[in-house]
Amino acid sequence: MTSLNSSLEESIKTKRVNESAESENLPNSKRLSLICANLGILPLAAFEYLVLNLNTHQKDVEFQFIPIKQDHPFLLSLSPGSTISVDDFEAGVAEFIEELESQFRDQIQSYGLPNDCPGRPLIVSLARLDTRWYEMWEDDYSALFLGDWDLTMAPPSILDSLLSLIMVEGLLYTMLPDDPRKLTHLPTRGCLGDFNPTLRDVRYKTLQGFLCKECRSIVETSLGVERTIQWSNLLSKTWLGNLDDPKSPASVVAKLGYNLFVTRGLAPTKMEKLFEILKEDGVKELLKLVGGIVLAALLFWLGLKD
Ligand SMILES: [Zn+2]
Repeated sequence: MTSLNSSLEESIKTKRVNESAESENLPNSKRLSLICANLGILPLAAFEYLVLNLNTHQKDVEFQFIPIKQDHPFLLSLSPGSTISVDDFEAGVAEFIEELESQFRDQIQSYGLPNDCPGRPLIVSLARLDTRWYEMWEDDYSALFLGDWDLTMAPPSILDSLLSLIMVEGLLYTMLPDDPRKLTHLPTRGCLGDFNPTLRDVRYKTLQGFLCKECRSIVETSLGVERTIQWSNLLSKTWLGNLDDPKSPASVVAKLGYNLFVTRGLAPTKMEKLFEILKEDGVKELLKLVGGIVLAALLFWLGLKD
């Protein structure tokens, strides 16, 4: 569910001013800063690589990670599996972001780096909200809560789901100052604009990764045909490729500890690891050999018996 408060229109006007200021430094591009709470046993390198790979497929928004301190009380309140009330989240988030941006600027200064823009914050956590919303879109930030995700929701895997939700955040941000509320509808069409009241219903839009005719038309009006095609291609995730191509993002992510075609949860289970090993050609050959030996032994034993 996306929480859009009534002051959005006013905020969009403010954003329009901010965005134009930002775009003076970085024409035609916006920055979305991922702020991750503790993501448990999810292989961070695989997750971060996938998110940063999005930067190579489109130019509208740059996804980035900024340094954060995991021991911040606000982030600790978003630890995996914990439940936080919307009121508590909203009470702490503004101060947290302010602190974070201040630290960001201090670090830039201390390293003597060129001035930079922290961008729009996107908070990612494995916590859950007491309302069971999995997504919040607010004036100055967005947040994703995957605490309600469980293995019965796979496929898609949790990493696949996260990637789709992050891409949609990028698209909505790109469409500003157009109202992001336009890109949502109650019927489930397997479209990324589906309004899903709970995380469990997100499966279809994540798996299909497409824009229905209505949503596509809205995006085209906002971004034009060419950029809509670019986003449609991105959302389809065909760019992930497959494991036959060692240079594909899917292969790289597998090497970083997450096989998108096998793993479902935060990290591979023992069975998933075994399955993955069995899929390796070399092991297949070994199994054939072992199978051959067993068969020969069986035939020999049967021969002796006769
Ligand atoms: Zn749609």
